[in-house]
Formats: sequence, C-alpha cells, structure tokens
Amino acid sequence: MQNHSDSDLLILDNPDTPQPTPLSPWRILVVDDDEEVHNATRFALSGVHLLGQPLELLHAYSAREAEQLLLCETDIAAILLDVVMESNDAGLRLAERIRHDLGLHDLRIVLRTGQPGYAPEVDVISRYDINDYRTKNELTHDRLLATLTAALRSYQQIHALNTTRQSLRNIIDATRDLLSRGDIRSFAKGVLVQINSLLPMNQGGLIVVRTQDETHATAGMHMLAASGPFQPLIDRPLDALNDREARALIQRAFVEQSYIHGVGAYALFFPGSSYQLVAYLHDSQDEPIEDDDLRHLFCRNVSLCLDHLSLIQRLQHTALYDPLTSLPNRTSFLDTIEQHIGQRDPPEHLAVLDVDHFNTLAGTIGTEMADRVLCALTKRLRAAFSGEPVHLARIAGDSFGLIGPEIYLQPQRMHTLFANPMEVGDLSLPISVTTSIVPLDEHIDSSLAALTAAFTALKLAKQRRRGGTQVYTNDMSREQLARITLMHELRTADYARDFFLAFQPQFRLIDGVLTGFEALLRWRKPDGTLVPPGQFIHIAEYAGMIVRIGAWVFETACRHLRQLLDEGWRDLGVSVNVSVEQLRDPGFLLMLERTLTDTGIKARSVEIEITESMAMQEIELTLDVLERVKGMGIRIALDDFGTGFSSLAYLQRLNIDRLKVDRSFIAEISRSAQSARIAETVAQLGRQMNLEVLAEGVETPDQVARLVQMGYHSVQGFLYAKPIAFAELSNWLTERDKPREH
Ligand code: C2E
Ligand code: MG
Ligand code: MG
Repeated sequence: MQNHSDSDLLILDNPDTPQPTPLSPWRILVVDDDEEVHNATRFALSGVHLLGQPLELLHAYSAREAEQLLLCETDIAAILLDVVMESNDAGLRLAERIRHDLGLHDLRIVLRTGQPGYAPEVDVISRYDINDYRTKNELTHDRLLATLTAALRSYQQIHALNTTRQSLRNIIDATRDLLSRGDIRSFAKGVLVQINSLLPMNQGGLIVVRTQDETHATAGMHMLAASGPFQPLIDRPLDALNDREARALIQRAFVEQSYIHGVGAYALFFPGSSYQLVAYLHDSQDEPIEDDDLRHLFCRNVSLCLDHLSLIQRLQHTALYDPLTSLPNRTSFLDTIEQHIGQRDPPEHLAVLDVDHFNTLAGTIGTEMADRVLCALTKRLRAAFSGEPVHLARIAGDSFGLIGPEIYLQPQRMHTLFANPMEVGDLSLPISVTTSIVPLDEHIDSSLAALTAAFTALKLAKQRRRGGTQVYTNDMSREQLARITLMHELRTADYARDFFLAFQPQFRLIDGVLTGFEALLRWRKPDGTLVPPGQFIHIAEYAGMIVRIGAWVFETACRHLRQLLDEGWRDLGVSVNVSVEQLRDPGFLLMLERTLTDTGIKARSVEIEITESMAMQEIELTLDVLERVKGMGIRIALDDFGTGFSSLAYLQRLNIDRLKVDRSFIAEISRSAQSARIAETVAQLGRQMNLEVLAEGVETPDQVARLVQMGYHSVQGFLYAKPIAFAELSNWLTERDKPREH
C-alpha cells in the first residue's frame, strides 16, 4: 500500500479535487474464469452506490482478456482479480503487469481466490500494491461492499494526488520554460504553449500584453502571441481583434485583474511589475477551469516569471547602456563593431571622439556640470546623426564611439559640430574634440582590435595636436605589436640580471668640480639588445611596473653611491628620475626612507628628478608628496624644464631645489635667439627664486661659454661625460685622478 504523509495531502486544498464529475460511475473490472463469480458479483452490486456514485462493471474471463481491456479502457478504479486462472498465478502475473508494464498505479487491486492455499506472500501484496486479499467465500455481499468501498476511497485519494502531482510537474516545466525566455514576445508565445499543454483547448488562443496604464481602454494592449484562427493578429493592437465579446472579456480581465469565464471562452490574468498579460482562450467545451488551486498556482508562477523577465531586461539594459546619456555603452558598442566588421566593399568606419581637456574642465566646473556637458554633447551628436546609418555609443568617460559609412564620419564634419560653444545652465563652454578614425577593413579582425586601434590613433592625434584627427594605419598596429612584445619582455625581465645603471656626471660650472651623477636606467635584454629608456619607461608606467622598477633604481643608485663613498670618493650625490606614477604609490615615502636607512646614505646626497610636464599633471598630489620628500631632506629637481607649462605660482609652491633646463634649449642656444632667450630667462628665474639651475645636454664649448654668461650653476652633457655604466665608474673616476682620501 502506498503511504501518504500529511504533507503530501496538504498540496490538495481540497482532497477530492479531480474526482469524476458527479454521478459518473466508478468503473470496476471483474476478472475471473468462473462465470458464476461474474454473475454473483453482478448480482451483489446491482443498483449499489458507493461513495455517492453508481458502479459500472466490466468483465474479463482470463488474465489476457483483462490485460487487453486495461489497454483500451480508461478510468478503471478497481479490479476484482481471481488469482488462479490460465495458470496458478495468472492473477498475480496480471497484477505485476498492471503495475510495471501498464504503469497503472491509481487502479486498486482486490485479489480473490477459491482456495485459501493460494494466498500470495506478504511481500507480493506490497510489491504489487494489492489493496486486499479475500477468499471467494469471504466475499459475502456486505464484505464485498466494505472491501470495494475501502478500495474506491483509496483510489479516489491516490488518483487525486497523482493528478495534482502531474499538474504541478507541468507547472514546474512551464516555469522552467518561461524562465528561459529572454524577451516578452517569446515569453508570451511560451505562455500560450504551456497553457495549451496544461489546459488543452482546441480553438486557439491569444496572449495580450499591456505595457502602460493608459486612459484609453485598449491603449497599450498588443496581441503578442496567438494560435489557431487568431494567428494573423500577432503583433497587432487589441483593436484589430474583430470579435467584440472577446475584446470585452480581455478588457474585463485587465480591469478586474482576475480570471474571467465568458461564453465559450475564458481569460486568465497575469499581473507583473512592468507588463501585464491576459491569456484569452476559446473553449469549445465551454467548461470553466475546474481546479482553482492549480489555476492560481499557474497564474502566480507565470506572474513571477514575468517579473523575472522584467528584471533580466532591466539588468540587460544596465549592462548595455550608459545610465548618464542612455547611449549604448562600451560593451554594447563592441557588439556593434563585431557586426560591422565583416562588412566589406566599402568597409564601415569606426570613429572615436574624445573631448579635449575634459578632466581639467570637470575640475573647474564640477562633476555635476561636467555630466551635463556630456549630456548636451550627446544631444548634439544624436541630432547630427539622426536619420543616418551611424551608431553612437559612450565608450569611456569623455569618449564617444561612432560607426557608419565613411562619408558620414568626415573629420571636418565631426569637428564642425563643436564649432559653437556648449550651453549648459548659464555657462557657454567652448569645447573641442580630438578624433581618430579606423577603417574596419581586412586588417581589423575583432571588435577589440578595432577599439584598440582607435585609441592608438587617438593617442597619436592628441600628442600631435588637440582638436585634430588621426586616421589609423597598419604601421601603428605594427608599432603596437612591438610595444606589446616589449611589455611582455619587461614583465618577465630579471632586474638583477637585465637592468643596470649608467651614471652621468654633473659638474659645477665655475670650477668644473664633479658634484654627483644622474642615475640612468639601462635594460639589456637576454639577447644582448640594449633598449633605451625612452622606449620602455612609458610602457612600464602604462603597465603599472614603474613602481617596482623605480624602487629598484632608487635602491641600486643608493647602493652604488654607498660603494663610491666606501671607496673613498667624497662629496658626491646622486640624482634619480622618478615617475609621477611612483608619487601616487602609497609605499613611495617608506621605500625612500627604508633605502636611505639600509644604505646609510644621507638624504641631502640624494636628489629626485620629476619632469616638469608630469609634475603639472596632478599638481595637488605632487605638491603633497614632494613636500614630504622635502621633509625627509631629499633634494628635488624639476627635469626637462621649459617643455611643460609650469605657472610661477606652482613653481613657488613646489619648493624645489634645482631646475634642469631641457637639452633642446641648450642645443639651440647658439643658433636660435628664442631658445637662447628661454635659457637665459630660466637662469634669471632661478636666481630670483633662489634655485640652482643646471643645463642638460651640453655638447659644445660654445654652449658652455653662453651658459657661463647666463649664470648657470651646473652642467651635464656629452661634452663632459656620457652616462657611464656603473661597473666602469671607478675606473673613470680614477682616470680623472680625483684626489682620494687616505
Ligand atoms: P632625462 O632624465 O632628461 O635624462 C637625460 C637624458 O639625456 C639621458 O638619456 C642622457 O643619456 C641624455 N643626455 C645626457 N647628456 C646628453 C648630451 O649631451 N646630448 C644628448 N643628445 N643627450 C644627452 P637617456 O638615458 O636615454 O634617458 C632618457 C630619459 O629616460 C631620461 O631623461 C628620463 O626621463 C628617462 N629615464 C632614464 N632612467 C630613468 C629611471 O630610472 N626612471 C625614470 N622614471 N625615468 C628614467
Ligand atoms: Mg633626468
Ligand atoms: Mg632631462
């Protein structure tokens, strides 16, 4: 016997839910090879009602005949089964087939036998789920009624439970199917399919979606899925449905937000947070859906799936659109590029448009206003390209991407768009953009490659001139590849083996006394190639390696100086170049301090060089860190001076010790009056601000003469000495025959 726990039964709010409609008879199969038994049973049960329903008897005279009957008849509730027929265990074999082969589990089996000696084993009774076992003699009229009543009650419960189980399983399947649907159209179709299998109906149906609460009765209602005669109505507004009654039923379902049963049709309502659905179904049988609980459960599940769909769609939207401008974002733009890549003859063009000095602008007017500038800019772009086959996206803070035929993306046109200032609030802001263009031809094989190419060209464009345009060429990609290779090699470099420092001597101009060295990093790759710092320092900065490399340089420079001092060379200092990325590193000051302690080098023997243009990039950060460096007693030099745009105010606040005038001015000093003037002005500036002034790149005695006139303090350049690998420095020093102590 099956055992049902209370919780199983709780699923059925109404335990006899799917019972046969009132007065449909219980069907009972009598199987016996003895005609007498059939007659007696017929007699005993004639006119009897059990559990409020009449009985209908079916008769079979052998196990085989019974099996045939069971194959074509449905809804048989109980079987009175003789054990001994064709063979001694024909009845038991049939019981086995009923449960295992025919899969009839609801059916109740009552075994009967003439001889008590043929009673089945207990385990057979439980294996075949036998309801009762009686000898024929025992089955008197009353006993037979009692046995059958018990069997039918048990059938009723098991059948109800199994029907509900199946429906629940169907609902779970339906839910699974609906959860996998990514858009509302496919979802609606799925609902229709699921309704079809859960509630078979034969005359077609419709799924109507309402997106917004509008005042007009049918506004916002669309037929998203349809079957049967309704199929041509897919995607049409509800008004296109000619059947007035059907329309009214659907509207009622939306208004009353519930299940409505009409004449020959019904409507199911599915509420949701973004969408509401009504399923309208034609039903030829004109029977209301019987099971309220299952219907509720189904509707509730569909609603939950509907909300799930809205959530997924919202997530997708956030994942693919920029919340500020509502333009597609970078991810979505990469997809668009991918779709346009295969398009040859002529290839589409990709343009990236970058707002010049946007960060400075944002710093001046505030983030909120800057956001408004971006929105205004988006509006201008949208207006300009509306109606054209151009896709727009916001791909980074102040960079916009465009894809379309070349003719629409002419540089001149893009720049003219910003000829007039941007009006934001009370402000009228002149804006310029730098652009890059990449033809999506056969050299570009992925969206990422396209975007990388665009940014490579953009970087070049910016280096040349803000407000300009650079069209991408394949040379750039070769350069890029070379840079990527170099980056990889740098990442795997063994500093102790591959790096070394060259020390370039620095001298006091008036008496030619050697004051110290600038430490310059050298990288010799394992294959022996020497890579100049101009080629790899910016890669190290870009790839986040400069902090580690910079620390290595500083430590090594200090250790070298220690060695020189230990060898007896006196009054020498060392200058180390430092990138602004290092200043950003929170461990920078600690690294300086630790190195000085470890090497026993005095802070005032060490100078750090910051290039002027870098120092001006993040002025507040630079001021702060340099102040602390200064506090430690380390000297500070402003490198490549004259090439940046230092304002005097900042220069004063920077509290530096030394200006290193860029070698381009020194090189031109005797040829260009302007360069000479700059070199002279810097010298005056230094005097006024009480700073030491050093000339870099001194190559000729003529230059020296001019520098002396101008009042320069110190010099460094090939005329005096090239950078010397540290390993050879002691020799060089000895050669110069500098007096040694002891
Ligand atoms: P810099 O700091 O301005 O260094 C001076 C550069 O000018 C050196 O080039 C030096 O070899 C070169 N130079 C010196 N005298 C003369 C001369 O008379 N004529 C000419 N034509 N050139 C001269 P180098 O070693 O190739 O370094 C280039 C740049 O790389 C450096 O410019 C510096 O900005 C950077 N750098 C070098 N080492 C490091 C380092 O350890 N860390 C960082 N962050 N940057 C470094
Ligand atoms: Mg330098
Ligand atoms: Mg320099």
